[in-house]
Amino acid sequence: MSGNRTFTMIKPDGVAAGNIGAILHKINEAGFRIVAMKLTKLSEEKAGAFYEVHKARSFYGELVSFMSSGPIVAAILEKENAVADFRELIGATNPAEAKPGTIRALYAKSIGENAVHGSDSDENAAIEAAFHFAGTELF
Ligand code: UDP
Ligand code: MG
Repeated sequence: MSGNRTFTMIKPDGVAAGNIGAILHKINEAGFRIVAMKLTKLSEEKAGAFYEVHKARSFYGELVSFMSSGPIVAAILEKENAVADFRELIGATNPAEAKPGTIRALYAKSIGENAVHGSDSDENAAIEAAFHFAGTELF
């Protein structure tokens, strides 16, 4: 995958709060094109594997339990400079530190239940997109 794609999830809190539409609107408005998308649910095992990199962190157990607690929306997004621009659009991990107008400032509840995921590098975007969409047609 080239530098123009990133991977996102609307997390269980965002879906449960009825914010799928509002969050997708922000994403489209910011110039991202959706090239793959699905409503799905992660098992504890899959959530654990997705966040494997955080295994040693104190919040790992809570994160895995939260991310498998309800449906999520997974999507691959396309735009020039996608990874960095999307991180800018979602704002800081902790919504208390997220810039006004960012998705997390608007919709996140806490540092853990923070509405959206965004890949942190082109390499991880490719890995995360394949994790959810291997074999799926991209548009
Ligand atoms: N997280 C948490 N507590 C923390 C830091 C992170 O619960 O102190 C959760 C939060 O849901 C975050 C995810 O773990 O989005 C992954 O953490 P990371 O540092 O990669 O933040 P992100 O890349 O999502 O901004
Ligand atoms: Mg991260």
